[in-house]
Amino acid sequence: MEVNATNAWKDCLQIIGQSVDEQNYNTWFKPIVPLRLEGDVLTIQVPSQFFYEWLEEHYVPVLKQAIHAIIGENARLEYSVVVDSGNQRNPPLVVNYPNGAGIKRSNAQTQNGNGNIEEYSPFSFKALNPQTVNSRLNPHYTFENFVEGDCNRLARSAGIAVSKKPGTTSFNPLMLYGGVGVGKTHLVQAIGNEIKKNLPSKIVLYVDQNDFTTQFLNALQNHKMQEFQNFYLQVDLLILDDVQFLAGREKTQEIFFHIFNQLHQSGKQVIMTSDCPPRDLKGFQERLLSRFKWGLTADLQEPDFETKLAIIHNKMESDGIEIPSEVAEYLAYSVDTNLRDMEGVLNSLIFHATLLKKRIDLDLAKEVLRNIVKEIQADVSVDFIQKMVAEYFKVDIESLKAKVKKREIVIPRQLAMYFCKRYTQLTLALIGQNFGGRDHSTVIHALESVEDMMKTDANFKNSVDELSKKLKLRVAS
Ligand code: ADP
Ligand code: MG
Repeated sequence: MEVNATNAWKDCLQIIGQSVDEQNYNTWFKPIVPLRLEGDVLTIQVPSQFFYEWLEEHYVPVLKQAIHAIIGENARLEYSVVVDSGNQRNPPLVVNYPNGAGIKRSNAQTQNGNGNIEEYSPFSFKALNPQTVNSRLNPHYTFENFVEGDCNRLARSAGIAVSKKPGTTSFNPLMLYGGVGVGKTHLVQAIGNEIKKNLPSKIVLYVDQNDFTTQFLNALQNHKMQEFQNFYLQVDLLILDDVQFLAGREKTQEIFFHIFNQLHQSGKQVIMTSDCPPRDLKGFQERLLSRFKWGLTADLQEPDFETKLAIIHNKMESDGIEIPSEVAEYLAYSVDTNLRDMEGVLNSLIFHATLLKKRIDLDLAKEVLRNIVKEIQADVSVDFIQKMVAEYFKVDIESLKAKVKKREIVIPRQLAMYFCKRYTQLTLALIGQNFGGRDHSTVIHALESVEDMMKTDANFKNSVDELSKKLKLRVAS
């Protein structure tokens, strides 16, 4: 009999393999174990409740077609679902279901290892309590300390709208994207914190892709997929941070897709972040990507000088520390990697000021910067920058310091000043002195022109990037 079941299932797999792609075949059909063939009834064992439900939801026609062809028109399928894989003491627990949607599951009964019959409800689970559930939010990320700027206006407004009416605006899902340190995590956590504060009956959950993937794999290994799903399906606001890391993780995407659909259908809010717009996400199933675009997609840009300045003042004020404006300006100009580095610099300054009782001044700021942002070190000299820029643009190095106002000279000169600001510790005034005694306002003007040109002229931006790379290599060596 068992041989029959094995052979029959082998033949069924042949047919199934023709209509299911390899990935899904390996995921959903390979793990199936044929148990017995009794008359027209083929019993197959599947590794979990979730697995069973997934087959029922997605593959009934495929399964029917296969068993009809191999066993006959009256063929039926029964599942033996492993609901607990057991251990040395307890044998595995299974529950049997007939195949085909619409069959009442409440009739299903389980048999445990002792041969006792007990009621089993696949839908019994513990309800989450919004008061006690761990939302994994950092309470320090709020809207109050999230500084508004041109760089984040749309994303911030959308976030506020969502936090007032989660799930009921058209911003569902809300997809925020942007580079490192532009404030994505801060903003989505602020939304979560706001909802927890104002709508305490809502269940809020923040996970980064790492949490999600780990939990999923754990659940899969321990046959706890049902619990995993049930947990997520109770959430009113699901925040998934850094979805780009789900790229290529087909199974995780599959389950996320499922959870996403269920939440969305029942009017729950989903918020995601990513390091690029959905259209540029690689390694994602198309249907998942198209879901991402259902709601609102908003980007966060690198903060401009004013926003950085406001962020610096805001942070220092909230820690009760005074920072002289020249120091704040110096930092806003100099820390141009990202806001995470800025946070490191500010924390270090706070540490020096509060614990070591040092006065915050330019010297201290420079010292701290040297230790934290490795890129900004003093080993690149003005001479080196001038020489490199002059060679690149094929102009005479002396003309950078002379009073020449021709555009072919002005642009390389401004760029060289920009690099000096970025890669040396010199003050604006000192940079000016190194360029034929110009004053600090000329240097500021140069920095602004370079930033403007980078925004409007892609070729120019490429040149800057190329030269930056060379300078960074020099700094690193
Ligand atoms: P991302 O998730 O985009 O990489 P984060 O949210 O982790 O960036 O932000 C990096 C740091 O910068 C955090 O400390 C955050 O609080 C801070 N930050 C970013 N944007 C703002 C802002 N607009 N106002 C205040 N702080 C900000
Ligand atoms: Mg982040």
